[in-house]
Amino acid sequence: MQKITRRRGTIAFFITLGACLVALAIGLNVRWVILNWHEIVPLVLGVFFFGILIAGVVLNTIFLVREIRRNERHDSFLNAVTHELKTPIASIRLYLETLQRRDLSEDKRQEFYRVMIGDSERLLATVEQVLKAGEVGQRGPDDISIRVDIKEMVEDSCQVVALRNHLPSEAIQFLNETRGMSTIVVGNPEDLRAAIMNVLDNAVKYSPKDPKIRVALAVEHDAWVVLRVTDNGIGIQDAHLKRIFKRFYRVPSLTVLRTKGTGLGLFLVRTIARQHGGDASATSDGEGRGATITVQLPRLLHS
Ligand code: ADP
Repeated sequence: MQKITRRRGTIAFFITLGACLVALAIGLNVRWVILNWHEIVPLVLGVFFFGILIAGVVLNTIFLVREIRRNERHDSFLNAVTHELKTPIASIRLYLETLQRRDLSEDKRQEFYRVMIGDSERLLATVEQVLKAGEVGQRGPDDISIRVDIKEMVEDSCQVVALRNHLPSEAIQFLNETRGMSTIVVGNPEDLRAAIMNVLDNAVKYSPKDPKIRVALAVEHDAWVVLRVTDNGIGIQDAHLKRIFKRFYRVPSLTVLRTKGTGLGLFLVRTIARQHGGDASATSDGEGRGATITVQLPRLLHS
């Protein structure tokens, strides 16, 4: 948190510096105009060069702020990934050492094995997400061409997520709003499943108290298969709604930073949706009031 405050201070400093330089340049420009009012050549040249100077300062400030933000995202990604890798490895090691040193009952051993399998799955999920983010970012849209029924995939994913998170059956409600229309999309099934799972996982992850998740699937304007996942969780402030789709971006709040994650999930969701000719977006009524993540994909019209 201290680091975030320091970064905010740096960004504020560069914005203030940029604004002061622009104000100074405008002031000098006005003075130049007053001094050279009757001489057209220096007047025009002066206004032109001051214009370039002001544009340069503005661009430079924007660039600096962007670079600071990008660095900030890289740092938090490295911290998150290190944590995500270290925690399960440390836990597996501890359990293995205990198994090696102590004579344990069969029940206890089985319990330890279960925990270690859970930890290794968590480890694998993090590694797979990082690898997929790299792979998806480099791939063109042309190598994806299998027919996928999104309805089946979403229903299946809801069950997997509920099971994996030990949720009661009513926690994830699937609403079929397709009016019997087909929901076939042409694409890469593995990527599409990863995108759907990421959105569902986030809905559970960011709804820490008694999750109630609505998963609505609709066909819109005949051309789009639209998935809307609405949760009753921590919500997202307006300022972050667009940024959460950027690579490594995590909302800088204590609740989010205490939740496991790498900031790659929604980047993957949007990249995959766009590679299929669709898109992804987020809406929320604000902090503590839940969020809706929408993924839209082009529907195969003549199946
Ligand atoms: P992470 O690994 O941090 O979950 P994501 O890319 O999946 O990364 O999400 C980026 C950020 O968007 C999260 O860190 C969180 O701040 C915010 N976010 C994503 N989904 C939700 C949600 N359903 N409710 C509230 N915040 C969310």
